[in-house]
Amino acid sequence: MNILLVCAHPESQSLNGALRDFTIRHLEQAGHTVRVSDLYAMQWKAQVDAGDSKQRLNPAYFDAPMESQHAYQNGLQSDDVALEQEKLLWADTVILQFPLWWYAMPAILKGWVDRVYAYGFAYGVGEHSDRHWGDRFGEGTLAGKRAMLVVTAGGWESHYSPRGVNGPIDDLLFPIHHGILYYPGFDVLPPFVVYRTGKMDEVRFAEIREALGRRLDALSTTAPIPFRKQNGGAYDIPQLTLRPDLAPEQSGFAVHLA
Ligand code: FAD
Repeated sequence: MNILLVCAHPESQSLNGALRDFTIRHLEQAGHTVRVSDLYAMQWKAQVDAGDSKQRLNPAYFDAPMESQHAYQNGLQSDDVALEQEKLLWADTVILQFPLWWYAMPAILKGWVDRVYAYGFAYGVGEHSDRHWGDRFGEGTLAGKRAMLVVTAGGWESHYSPRGVNGPIDDLLFPIHHGILYYPGFDVLPPFVVYRTGKMDEVRFAEIREALGRRLDALSTTAPIPFRKQNGGAYDIPQLTLRPDLAPEQSGFAVHLA
């Protein structure tokens, strides 16, 4: 398989750096081809701005989606953005690895998404009408590929349990799983989360490597999170609300699981 690992940590000798190195080694030993986007090492530019296009559509006013579409359609994107899109198209599976920072991904990784997910590439794909609101949530440019998060967190697993004070981990990761990965078409695998990172020693790290190795070995066979397809009949159109007979009386993120 072709596997793209996108990772975001400022210190190469960190726990995240060790997990990155382990992941690359393990996947290569299993015969996969691995490409790595190590965003801090690449000094990835996180902010969307006028520099993302080689020739502006409207030099007088920066309209981010319109400039993104123009640059994408006309081969005018900055080279770093175009290269990351090429890596995404090349990959069969994409792994995003990062420490949980303020209940979210580090800004540099969010900036990778903001810039690489261009209009026409990740959104604005397919027919947009009252009958069909784009090829997204289960369809799109990246359909047929798989994605998985590898996340480290200082908090305990119980803090992220269904009644934990931080909120359930599935809820916290929903915007990434559903909004960032499922939206452009990925099948999203359950995440691999390392909790309580402050309590790490060689024994525990060996156990984590073992568990992560098993998940990496099962990348092509693990059942994805069963999100409902937007265009599979579960949602009323054009409101795009879940049909009243599905998960009746319920609301929130969980209703989007079939
Ligand atoms: P490191 O700090 O590098 O290492 C963690 C431990 O692992 C250390 O004890 C280290 O000695 C050990 N270790 C490192 N490498 C190895 C190795 N090769 N073998 C064995 N042991 C090793 N946490 C939350 O739960 N929720 C939050 O919202 C949150 N927000 C944060 C916001 C910010 C800005 C920051 C800085 C931290 C936040 N944290 C939060 C904590 C954060 O998630 C953890 O600090 C991070 O996940 C730890 O990963 P690391 O790679 O930085 O670990």
